[in-house]
Order: sequence, then C-alpha cells, then structure tokens
Amino acid sequence: MEFKSKNVEETYKIASKLAKYVQGGDIILLNGDLGAGKTTFVKGFAKFLGVTEPVTSPTFTLLKTYDTKDFTIVHIDAYRLEGATFDELDDYVSDENVIFIEWSNCLASQELIENHLSIDIKYVSKNQRKYI
Ligand code: ADP
Ligand code: MG
Repeated sequence: MEFKSKNVEETYKIASKLAKYVQGGDIILLNGDLGAGKTTFVKGFAKFLGVTEPVTSPTFTLLKTYDTKDFTIVHIDAYRLEGATFDELDDYVSDENVIFIEWSNCLASQELIENHLSIDIKYVSKNQRKYI
C-alpha cells in the first residue's frame, strides 16, 4: 500500500489510520532518510491514541516509552545501534507494548524485516512524502 502525504497533518492522519488496527505485541519498522518523517509518524500515532506529552526523537536516548489506554508505545531509534543485534529488544517484545523502530535497517538482525510491518518513507519535496 502507498499513502501520499502533502503535509504533516496528512501524515498524522495516515498514522491514525494505522493506529486503529495495531494491537499490543505489534512491531512497526520505519525507514527513510533523515527528515523523511519517521518521528512525525510516531507523533501522529501517539497523538491519536491520546498521548499528550511531546513525542520527540529518541536519537540520543535510544528509546522512549509512552503509555496509552491499551498498550505502551516503545519508540526506538536504531541509527546509533548500527550493526548491533539489539538483544534488549527482546525485553520489550510483549503483548503490552507496540514497538516502533526507526532505522531498523541499521540493525544486524534483519529477520525483523520479514516478520513485521515495515514502512518506507520517501521524501518527495519539502512538504510531500510517500509512506509505502
Ligand atoms: P525522521 O524521524 O525521519 O528523521 P522527522 O519526522 O523528525 O524525520 O522530521 C520530518 C520533518 O519533515 C519535520 O520537520 C516535519 O515537519 C517535516 N515534514 C514536512 N512535510 C512532512 C510530511 N508530509 N510528513 C512528515 N513530515 C513532514
Ligand atoms: Mg527520527
């Protein structure tokens, strides 16, 4: 499936569509260049589920969590984990968590890609993106 976004609000809408189908235990992989809109997507997802605290890039903390009514959002940035298997990931895999991994393609264990929903984001122009 492919979703075109003309602005951040549209990206939030795409993310909220997905939020209706996601359940605890799901893992969502987000890939795309710096500034493509990976974090923006997680922001929209969290906002739709009632998270009021600001969702910011986990680049320096590696991981952030946000509680929602039905599950906890675990937001990971794997950019600086390049080549790592990130064994700690196992600690977070649970029916109580929905895990978003930005830059999952930096991780060594690429079986992730085969087994989970994977979203690639393409930069089209300043405000246009494709979520594929
Ligand atoms: P990433 O996490 O992929 O590095 P971010 O989500 O942090 O990217 O940043 C995306 C940037 O692009 C933000 O500054 C956002 O405002 C901007 N932007 C412009 N148009 C869009 C769009 N249609 N969808 C998502 N982000 C957009
Ligand atoms: Mg980001």
